[in-house]
Amino acid sequence: MSKFLSKRFADLEPYVPGEQPRDKAYVKLNTNESPYPPSKAVIDALTESEISNLNLYSDPTVTVFRLSVADYYNRQLAKNGAGFELSADNVFPVNGSDEALAFIFQAFCDKDKGMACPSVGYGCYPVFCGVQGIPFKPVPVNADFSVNTALFNGITHNITIANPNAQTGLFLPLARIEELLAENPDRLVVIDEAYCDFGGESAVKLLNSYDNLIVVQTLSKSRQLAGARVGFALASEQIVADLNAMRFSFNPYNVNRLSTIAAAKAMEDENYFEQTRAEIIATREDAKKRLISLGFEVTDSLSNFVLATRCDIGGKELYLKLKEKGVLVRFLSDVPLRNSVRITIGSKAQMSVLFEKIEEILKEKGL
Ligand SMILES: *Cc1c(COP(=O)(O)O)cnc(C)c1O
Repeated sequence: MSKFLSKRFADLEPYVPGEQPRDKAYVKLNTNESPYPPSKAVIDALTESEISNLNLYSDPTVTVFRLSVADYYNRQLAKNGAGFELSADNVFPVNGSDEALAFIFQAFCDKDKGMACPSVGYGCYPVFCGVQGIPFKPVPVNADFSVNTALFNGITHNITIANPNAQTGLFLPLARIEELLAENPDRLVVIDEAYCDFGGESAVKLLNSYDNLIVVQTLSKSRQLAGARVGFALASEQIVADLNAMRFSFNPYNVNRLSTIAAAKAMEDENYFEQTRAEIIATREDAKKRLISLGFEVTDSLSNFVLATRCDIGGKELYLKLKEKGVLVRFLSDVPLRNSVRITIGSKAQMSVLFEKIEEILKEKGL
């Protein structure tokens, strides 16, 4: 720490992202990226002439992308007979959904109104509170890691829940979320749907009924664009206007030119999205069966990862042994997850390597 760092940040503990090592080529199953390349429509749209426009600023309103997001959700809402439509003014565009979360915490929380989150969840939430001087309230989860929404009532904090959960993959039914929204009309309920496309049900269809709902989404997990850094939030026009006031006070050109184009094309290519998410879901269900047959407990994840636990081999040990053998998984150091590893669902070929190495490790340990 330099002598110049503000005292406000003396105790700051930054988020530690999953490692991106460069020492050798790993089978990389540690940060929940898609194993597939971006859609061909994305690649084709990033033409030389678009690249030669990089001397010009990007569109600060990010309109083509916002329209593509509204169109995608309007097709879903129409299929569900939701009876309302979103407009581009309900879409808040960001440089990765972490940025949406940071802006939300900054705009709607302060020292008197903190953020409450399930105690097992996404590691960035307490960090965003820490950097902004916002009280963070971890709300205990049940012994099976499910979220007990009743414990969120009767406190003054806003609420953020990753659904499905970022560490367990468990999905909280929309009926529970709707109860939270109804019982807490003066507090925001932020639903982070980074993993929702892999089998959960989106809360977007509740947007018309509850003005205290914000849905956050990313193109990093289900749309093959983690490296382009694009995400968005969906909420009432008033909330989106508040968030834009934050964005234009910090970084008005937050989504760059190439990412704006790539993200719009990825939202439009619904066939590729459907095909790749169906493959991930099928591979995940195979992986659950395979892990159970190898003696692991697995949570009933509806995400693009599984949380696998064996009491006779620590999560850290399994993580290190797999790394030695060229497979990266995530060890989450939270106390209740010490015997677990979080494994991103990769391609079928990547998963075969993973299982081959897990079998070797169990054999070497005589298990
Ligand atoms: C990956 C992830 C994000 C961040 O995604 P980016 O758009 O890449 O910043 C946000 N929330 C959760 C729960 C995630 O797992």
